Amino acid sequence: MTSYDYDLIVIGSGPGGQKAAIAGAKLGKRVAIIDRQEMVGGVCANTGTIPSKTLREAVMFLTGMSQRELYGASYRVKQDITITDLMARTQHVIGREVQVVRAQLHRNGIDLLNGFGRFVDEHTVAVEGTHRGDRTTISGEFIVIATGTTPARPSVVDFDEERILDSDEVFALTEIPSSLVVVGAGVIGIEYASMFAALGTRVTVVEQRERMLDFCDPEIVESLKFHLRDQAVTFRFGEKVVNVQVSDGGTVTTLASGKRIPAAAVMYSAGRQGTTEKLDLAAAGLESDNRGRLSVDEHYRTPVEHIYAVGDVIGFPALAATSMDQGRLAAYHAFGEPVHELTALQPIGIYTIPEISYCGATEAELTSSAVPYEVGISRYRELARGQIVGDAYGMLKLLVSTVDRKILGVHVFGTGATDLVHIGQAVMGCGGTVDYLVDTVFNYPTLSEAYKVAALDATNKIRALDRFTTH
Ligand SMILES: Cc1cc2nc3c(=O)[nH]c(=O)nc-3n(C[C@H](O)[C@H](O)[C@H](O)COP(=O)(O)OP(=O)(O)OC[C@H]3O[C@@H](n4cnc5c(N)ncnc54)[C@H](O)[C@@H]3O)c2cc1C
Repeated sequence: MTSYDYDLIVIGSGPGGQKAAIAGAKLGKRVAIIDRQEMVGGVCANTGTIPSKTLREAVMFLTGMSQRELYGASYRVKQDITITDLMARTQHVIGREVQVVRAQLHRNGIDLLNGFGRFVDEHTVAVEGTHRGDRTTISGEFIVIATGTTPARPSVVDFDEERILDSDEVFALTEIPSSLVVVGAGVIGIEYASMFAALGTRVTVVEQRERMLDFCDPEIVESLKFHLRDQAVTFRFGEKVVNVQVSDGGTVTTLASGKRIPAAAVMYSAGRQGTTEKLDLAAAGLESDNRGRLSVDEHYRTPVEHIYAVGDVIGFPALAATSMDQGRLAAYHAFGEPVHELTALQPIGIYTIPEISYCGATEAELTSSAVPYEVGISRYRELARGQIVGDAYGMLKLLVSTVDRKILGVHVFGTGATDLVHIGQAVMGCGGTVDYLVDTVFNYPTLSEAYKVAALDATNKIRALDRFTTH
């Protein structure tokens, strides 16, 4: 029998890689994980999820955004917010998160090898450190590729890490720009657009498609656009950037329509591609698609069966939460541990200001598949907790089957949306009906009470329909 240095080698220490490594170690296996020293914790901890969500929290707190309903439109916790104020909190949280990751790996006896991993053959990986000649080679029975993604950069634009940035470089800004062009109205672009708008930056969003976030509930996206416009955000849909010029005074972005947009800085958020370029995939008998992504089967196995791939490098949904579970499931499958498939019901959270979250079907999906439903709505301004927290715009929308009264979808906009959605997810996951929510006592005053109000709204409408049809 061939003997390997490790039972499992994991390349990349983001959420997918970490959880694969820990699951392997918990099964008593010898595990190594590879990443560059400054990237332990992955894109998630260092440049993506954690920094962006901490930045959002700092923006919300320092601008006093969420308190203005109570204290007036000019209320601010700090008058002159600097980039240092924002970064202090962000760096602190990143530091803590990386410590947690390192401690978890250490506690579970996982070898953390610092450097860049590259295939030598299908069971062997070379780990190249930053110093010349710093190279080790290790072999593993199973390998998990969890190398994530990097921002896609159009070749026509000269990124300078100062005025023209990609979304991983936001934290390199030395000051809060007075104006900003955001290219790409995907989740990351819109999240940052809303944060800078809250800081007082005049933001222009350029998107080549006619709409944004078209997988979400259109009514909620409309509410978000209304709020962002109110924060001086300009949307340019159906427009393409042809070039960006830089001068000492700032930047000018030229669109194919001839429009020219001056701004202090430009941030590109136009998709991401799999970080596989330098992995030497061919040495392992693998290849990526034209966006650097790897294809896998339902067990996260690549075509080379002992090599798995998880997380953003395999594409949709490219979320930290999903990546973690994929990593765990890949390791379990490799070592013959029984696994359950992930439930199909997965939440989507968008941390714009205000935030959006949903789970289950959208109205458009139900309509196109001819599933009859009724809508129950609760507006935060009619909830005592909504008044207390000063959220006058939030709403929760339940989609309820008029056939069997099951909850088919929940869509939330406003304070706490990304947490609140999980109540609906749990009810839906257990096959619950709207009556469960009607008959459940919620703490008062809470935002969770929105479920009861929306459930009552839906049942009242269904009752009205029943009355009409039975007479
Ligand atoms: C701005 C932003 C905001 C986001 N917000 C959210 C959010 O709110 N919620 C959410 O769920 N998700 C969010 N995401 C997505 C989330 O960050 C990713 O889904 C998640 O990080 C993917 O995890 P992963 O395991 O694929 O690895 P990643 O976190 O992508 O990390 C991959 C790691 O692999 C390493 N690596 C690459 N190549 C090699 C190699 N050859 N050798 C060794 N190491 C290598 C990299 O250095 C990196 O550390 C956000 C992403 C971004 C960019």
